[in-house]
Amino acid sequence: MNIPFVDLKSQYKVIKPEIDQAFEKIFENTAFIGGSAFEGNYAELYGINHCISCANGTDALYLAQRALGLKEGDEVLVPANTWISTSETVSQVGAKPVFVDCDSNYLIDISKIEEKISTKTKAIIPVHLYGQAVNMENIVSIAKKHNLKIIEDCAQSHLSRYNGKLTGTFGDIATFSFYPGKNLGAYGDAGAMITNNDELAEKLRKLTNHGSIKKHIHDFEGVNSRMDGFQAAVLNVKLKYIQEWTKERQENANLYNQYLSEISEIILPKIQDKSEHVYHLYVIQTDFREELIKYLSDNGIASGIHYPTALPFMTAYAHLNHTIDEFPVAYYQQSKIMSLPMFPELTEENIKFISSTIKQFYSNKK
Ligand SMILES: *Cc1c(COP(=O)(O)O)cnc(C)c1O
Repeated sequence: MNIPFVDLKSQYKVIKPEIDQAFEKIFENTAFIGGSAFEGNYAELYGINHCISCANGTDALYLAQRALGLKEGDEVLVPANTWISTSETVSQVGAKPVFVDCDSNYLIDISKIEEKISTKTKAIIPVHLYGQAVNMENIVSIAKKHNLKIIEDCAQSHLSRYNGKLTGTFGDIATFSFYPGKNLGAYGDAGAMITNNDELAEKLRKLTNHGSIKKHIHDFEGVNSRMDGFQAAVLNVKLKYIQEWTKERQENANLYNQYLSEISEIILPKIQDKSEHVYHLYVIQTDFREELIKYLSDNGIASGIHYPTALPFMTAYAHLNHTIDEFPVAYYQQSKIMSLPMFPELTEENIKFISSTIKQFYSNKK
């Protein structure tokens, strides 16, 4: 058996007629630039007033911070364990990323947020990492108390909910990535921001397009960060399936939970109360991680690590002089976590095989 980490090809085969037809239309209309065809549909799915498309999820984070006026001298709270875009874009606007350690769910540790707040702290970027919703009710109340803006990084959490409410609808702005491997993925780079605030929406729209909505009228300097027509077309086709695909991910996670439950050497994903998990990644904790990854690979099973080095310990942030005891949980987790194959088309047979291979690995160890 050969089981990839993600399988974009088998999904393409299912939607090929729709994709090919949509692409043909773009060629005919030469509508190459702009994601407006997608924006309304995505806003409707989220029940939100505005969706502004852009070139990728990293730009979405950068543009959201620009729109909120974050700048040099400001501090922005970000989790220690996330993809570097979350903190990189804080530096990009000239502000300083201030890392907060993770909890046992791999999410920003809410109990450690307030000790990191200073007079310079202007915003917080919770990340619904791996697809699990952060406790947004607590984030909102901390943000209110300290007058912080909230940008939700929803790059991994399309359609996940906290207490029944969609992630991305709690903060001032939420950002999405549609990188091909994300739960909702384009066939290239793409991203978006959503907000209920009319003023922010207009600012975001201008920012993506050189500070301009009306041709040749530039109210300020922005950037060139537009979704292209092909990506919008792909996303529109996929939107029809995203709910079904999300359910399939959750069913696959349940199967993993079931088949892996008897292996005492690994720790399965825990889901916090009221939080929904849409399983962008299915992450377990294990000793002998590198050996297990190799054993799986020898048996045709791909896996990954998200992420092997938590951001405070990354060379890119060496100038912040962070130490291990500031982020004990992130430090502990970075040597234990690994991600098993996860995509909607993964079969029960695949999951059974992966689980029995892991079991075999540990019984060989005894
Ligand atoms: C993928 C990702 C991003 C960046 O998205 P791109 O579209 O690749 O720029 C940002 N934050 C998180 C948590 C991500 O996983």
